[in-house]
Amino acid sequence: MKRVAVFPGSFDPITRGHESIIRRAIPLFEKIIVAIGVNAEKAGFFPVEKRKEWLEKVFKNDPTVHIDIYSGLTVDYCRKNEIKYILRGLRTSADFEFERSIGQINKQMHPPIETVFLLTTPEYTALNSSIVRDIIRHGGDPHSFVPEGVEF
Ligand code: ADP
Repeated sequence: MKRVAVFPGSFDPITRGHESIIRRAIPLFEKIIVAIGVNAEKAGFFPVEKRKEWLEKVFKNDPTVHIDIYSGLTVDYCRKNEIKYILRGLRTSADFEFERSIGQINKQMHPPIETVFLLTTPEYTALNSSIVRDIIRHGGDPHSFVPEGVEF
């Protein structure tokens, strides 16, 4: 079976931190699905189709990176698509505590799954989508925090 990983998240919007994790994971997996999770009760800041479009643009020259949209549990998405690896980035000890519980519960719900963590490179540790949204809301320039080609 192919080594396929899913990188789940909101990507609202994609940041250079997300891009860095995905690019560093390309050599590790035969295929990476960047899966935008949608929640019927919680609309995002940017429309999900726009978020998908940005991801597609950023990874247009990376044939092993695919973009998808899903709702429901990540483990159900993995089961349905026969995916064995969940990829996540770790920025801080708070991320670790949060990810540890999700990772352990996911494994309990679906034992074949393994969560693979990559440590964030230091320059992106402080970066997250919510900061980028705040910069945009207040009229600042977000370009140095998002991948090249992502225009608002
Ligand atoms: P979620 O909605 O699950 O918080 P995000 O879109 O914020 O999803 O993040 C998806 C994944 O990207 C998570 O594993 C998160 O840790 C990782 N990530 C987010 N920002 C960064 C960053 N600056 N550097 C490295 N990884 C990051």
